[in-house]
Amino acid sequence: MNGILIVAPNWIGDAVMTQPLLASLKQQFPEANIDVLASTWVAPIYRACPEVSEVIEAKFEHKQLQWGLRKQLAKELSAKKYQVCFVLPNSFKSALIPWLANIPLRIGYRGELRFGLINLSLDNPSKINRPPMVEHYLALSKLLNSELATTADNPSPKLCISATAKLSVLNKFNDVNFDPTNTYVMCPGAEYGPTKRWPISHFAELANKLVTLNPDAQIILLGGKADHELAEEICAKAHKDSKIHNWCGNTTLDEAIALIGMCKAVISNDSGLMHIAAALQTPQVAIFGSSDPAHTPPLSNKAKVLWLNLPCSPCHKKVCPLGHLNCLNDILPDQVFTTLKTLQS
Ligand code: SF4
Repeated sequence: MNGILIVAPNWIGDAVMTQPLLASLKQQFPEANIDVLASTWVAPIYRACPEVSEVIEAKFEHKQLQWGLRKQLAKELSAKKYQVCFVLPNSFKSALIPWLANIPLRIGYRGELRFGLINLSLDNPSKINRPPMVEHYLALSKLLNSELATTADNPSPKLCISATAKLSVLNKFNDVNFDPTNTYVMCPGAEYGPTKRWPISHFAELANKLVTLNPDAQIILLGGKADHELAEEICAKAHKDSKIHNWCGNTTLDEAIALIGMCKAVISNDSGLMHIAAALQTPQVAIFGSSDPAHTPPLSNKAKVLWLNLPCSPCHKKVCPLGHLNCLNDILPDQVFTTLKTLQS
């Protein structure tokens, strides 16, 4: 085996969960090049996976077929003579390129009507007894070579940051005297919706407490452009002397990964950045509301989860059906502050 292509999932958290599959394949086929075809959005995750030889960015528009572009990309991939492709998303579209590229073995879940496009497959797991995502992806490696496939118990994702990525971040943020050892990263966003977002007033109060405890502490608010406004509100509510910086939307994901890997601790909601912190083994507090930490926990022994497990939770709704959002409002800044002090570095 000398050429394996992975078609990556499109969500950051899911992409992080695929790393144990890559590690298992590298262990089984140490000589093989493992390349990843990924959207621009998740490509940085794979640049932080040491098993990956090349990350090929696919610049497709969301929900567009873009047949011509897919055919062109398939032609380029065909020249690389991959022997196997793992198609990790379930969509029909994601299975087209490996088929057009004539990759002989195309492995994945049956997904959306992909008979023929995928030629070695597993049944889609039932929604009720769905396994954790790491195991879901790892199960596919057993289709290729069950004897060599990894049998490690509870494998957890691991990402690495290159020295170049660290240096680039230190240079970029030189003007704010960025000191990673005294920096807390807060991730106030969650794409899913408000039932996964800890209140902004709580984030602001926690920032004030951290700066009161340690006057050298810096707080960096990280997230995407969509989180910029709520991060501004946190800054406005924090004390004027809190060294709090709103970098939501001002960093690339490559930079965000490096920042998370270097900082003292991360405080986040149940989000993709939470999984990145876990995979980098950064001490973290993960705050859960309407979702279930048993299904998507941060897989790290340096993570502490705060979840109230109310009778109404997990409800998995995007808007609180009871109108009070107590699952998040009642997790108080003091509790997060106390938990942060117990984290191992
Ligand atoms: S119903 Fe309960 S778990 Fe769901 S959002 Fe409201 S408070 Fe949270």
